[in-house]
Formats: sequence, structure tokens, C-alpha cells
Amino acid sequence: MDRRKFLKAGVASVVSASAAPGLIAQEMRAGVIVPVVSASDGRRGDVSTDVDRHLPVEGYVREPSHRIPVVASVDVVVAGGGAAGVAAAVCAARHGASVMLIERMNYLGGLWTGGLVLPVLATHGLGKTKDWDKATGGFCTEICDELLSNGWAVNPKDPTADPEATKYLMDKMIYDAGVKIIYNSTVAGAVMSGSRLDSVLVDCNTGRIAIRCKTAVDASGDGILFHYCGDPYEARRYHMTTLSRVYGVPSTHGPVPGMKTDGTGSREVIDGLDVMLVSATQQKHRMELWERMEQRKKEPGNEKLQLMEVAPTTGIRVTRVLDSIHNVTLEESMEWTEFDDVIGMSGVCDPFEYKGRHISRKERPVWQIPYRSLVPKETANLLVCGRCFGYDQGITWDAREISTCMVTGQAAGVAAAMSAATRTAAKDIDVKNLQKQLREDGVRLDF
Ligand SMILES: Cc1cc2nc3c(=O)[nH]c(=O)nc-3n(C[C@H](O)[C@H](O)[C@H](O)COP(=O)(O)OP(=O)(O)OC[C@H]3O[C@@H](n4cnc5c(N)ncnc54)[C@H](O)[C@@H]3O)c2cc1C
Repeated sequence: MDRRKFLKAGVASVVSASAAPGLIAQEMRAGVIVPVVSASDGRRGDVSTDVDRHLPVEGYVREPSHRIPVVASVDVVVAGGGAAGVAAAVCAARHGASVMLIERMNYLGGLWTGGLVLPVLATHGLGKTKDWDKATGGFCTEICDELLSNGWAVNPKDPTADPEATKYLMDKMIYDAGVKIIYNSTVAGAVMSGSRLDSVLVDCNTGRIAIRCKTAVDASGDGILFHYCGDPYEARRYHMTTLSRVYGVPSTHGPVPGMKTDGTGSREVIDGLDVMLVSATQQKHRMELWERMEQRKKEPGNEKLQLMEVAPTTGIRVTRVLDSIHNVTLEESMEWTEFDDVIGMSGVCDPFEYKGRHISRKERPVWQIPYRSLVPKETANLLVCGRCFGYDQGITWDAREISTCMVTGQAAGVAAAMSAATRTAAKDIDVKNLQKQLREDGVRLDF
């Protein structure tokens, strides 16, 4: 079997093996099917729920019990340094918390930088008093303004940023805020004390270490920490896209002259928690991008094209989404719903069908995000932000955009600092005080 046929067969067999029965298919956006499977059985701290669905052979081995060294004790641990995690870590530190950020790659920004996503969408939407109103503020506006004013991004409304400049700026903000960072290390478990998270377990090149914390923020995108804590969630599926950067393009309007992003075209919906399927798809995408570029280079005028890089962060859009105290619904996002515990607002991204009518992007209102959508039902001292906080699948498109990730990240970070300082469960913090602090920090809360 040649290499191409082998891969095709591999991907096909993994797809059919992982197609779980009972999937609910829903059209969310033209051409995109988003089936959902509920994937939490409430087993606190037990990691087998996801793996069970993909076991290549039956059975388990038992890991011998061993002592794990505690290397640090901090107010707030942030799991994951994407757009949400950086916002959470910087804002928690600015509000007086000692913060440790754990990131499995060697750079910050997650999908924004490493996924080569680049445009910061959902910053605006239809306002109550203005046609095209800015929904965000605070940290999101701060970082976008900094990128734009330095010439590291183009398009003031939905800035498209140079990924290396964004990584640099995030490192600088983290450094200036006094956040301690551990790169190249993976959050690998949670030690619970009743309903409280006592320590976050991390795999690094010296083995497994423990970091004790008063409060933690799950900004991993995949909800890995709430999964380890045993909080309920929904596992969602989406298509995977691998982006790349191409050099030698005669005229582009991007942030780096001569450079353009280019992506794989497949709309095949996959389960981002199925590591074998994701790996096979990643392999297929990398070969597709290279081989397509080799073909294009043969066309007259394209001789100088060069595939500079394939995104180092895998282009998975959504996996675990928290079943929070209150998951924001599509109706709430469309009907100007005001929440007593609002912590920020999301702009909008795409048109869609709503109550039998096509709603264009310009007709879609900005929407409020309630604090309760960041709070898990079970673990007392945990907050969740970024693409895995609690929202209905109907608003998946807006809720996981980079700007909304930073809005939820900022609120989770400030709330975590407050929860750690007062030793109060996340659900019991003084939300009025949280809102006051967020307003002072420039976050927009009101329509
Ligand atoms: C192909 C594609 C195109 C998109 N296009 C756009 C667009 O044009 N505009 C837009 O606004 N949005 C777009 N999005 C969505 C947007 O990029 C993401 O939803 C957003 O960046 C997510 O930010 P996050 O911080 O929540 O998660 P992530 O960016 O996923 O960050 C999570 C971080 O946690 C780290 N991490 C994960 N697990 C662990 C672990 N166990 N231990 C330690 N670290 C861990 C990861 O390495 C990563 O750095 C796109 C997404 C994709 C995939």
C-alpha cells in the first residue's frame, strides 16, 4: 500500500471506530455539523471517561502509587497560556495574587499564535444605541491596542496580528505582572481535598511535580483541569483545520509583508479528544499543505512561494465545554438578556438561522456573559475561561472567539484572586465587588 492509501485507510478506520452511537447532529452554520455527546459521569478525579471511548484494547494497568514533590505553593494556578490563560494570569497577578501559569508548549497564545489563527474576531456586535458597537474592553482592548500601535497588527476593528509579536507581547505582560511561568509542562492531574482542589499535578522533564494552590483557573481550552477535578461537561465535535504561513505572496494585507496564511479545506467533523484520530488527521493535513504548495510552485509566477511553517498548535476548535452553574443560551445571546452577575460581553461572529429566520451578522446583538457560566458545579475553588466555559452549542461560534476568550479570562483571573485572598468558594465571592473591579479595569459590562 502506498503512503497516501495507507493514511487514508488509517483515518477512515479510526473515524468509523470512534463514531459513537446516540450522537445528536445539529446544523450550526452552513456546512458545519456539530454533533454532541454527553461525556461526564461525575467520577471525581477519574480520568477514564474520555479514554474509555477510544480504548484500542480492553483493560487497564495500575500505576504504582508514589510520592510527588511539591515545588511551589501559590494563590492561583492557571492551566494553559492561550489568549484566555494569559488574560487570567496577568489580571489575577495585577489584583495581588501570586500566580503560576502552566503551559505545555514553549510559547504563549495557544491557537491565536501557535494555531496561526491571527484575526481577533467577535469584538463588536449590534449595540442597543449604536449600530456596530464594541463589546469588549479591558485586557482585550489593551493587548489589541498595543499590537496596533506598534504596527504588529492590521485592521483596528478585528485586529489581525503578527503571531511572533503577540508571543513577545504576552511574555512581556506576564513578566511585568510577576507571573511565574512553567513552559514545556503538561497539567496531568488534580489532588482533591473534598470538593476543593488542593494541588495541580504537572508532568515536566524531571517527572511529575505538584503545585499547591488556593484557587485555580482552567484555561486549557480542552477543560483538562475540570476533567481531572471531576466536574460535569459536554464533549463537542467540530471540524479540524490546520493553518500554515506561506512566504513569497506578491501583495497581502496581513501584518507581515509577503506572508499569507493558508489552511486545509476539509470540513470533516472529528472528536478532538480522540488522540489517534487527531494525530492521523494532523499527519494528513501536513502532507496536504506541503504537496499543494509544491504543485502551486510549478505555476508561472509562483516560483518564489515557500511554505514557512505549519501551525505547531493543532487546530481543534472545541472539545470539552463546562456544564457550569448557568450555561449561556442562544436565546439569551439574541434577546438582550441582562444578568445580575454580568462579567463582560461578547461580540458576534457569523450570521445564522434563528427562529426560522436568517439573521445577518450586523443584526446580531452583543451579549452579556454571566459570572455563573465560569463556575463549575462541583469543585469549590476552580474557575473556567476561554473556549471551554459554560455555553450552549448554538453560540459556539462567538463564545470561543479570541476576544471572548480574553473577556472570560480577565474575569476568571480577577475572581480567582478574590477567591484566593478571602478563601471563599468561587461561587460565593462578592460579585458586586468583582464587577466594580472589572469596570475600573475598563471591561464593558452594560449594553
Ligand atoms: C482553525 C481555527 C480557526 C479559527 N479562527 C478564528 C478567527 O479567525 N478569529 C478568532 O477570534 N478565533 C478563531 N478561532 C478560535 C480561537 O482561535 C480559539 O477559540 C481561541 O484562541 C481559544 O483560546 P483559549 O485560550 O481558550 O484556548 P487555546 O488557544 O487552545 O489555549 C489553551 C492553552 O492551554 C495549553 N494547554 C492545553 N492543555 C494543557 C495541559 N494539559 N497542560 C498545560 N497546558 C495545556 C495549550 O497549549 C494552549 O496554549 C479559530 C480556531 C481554529 C482552530
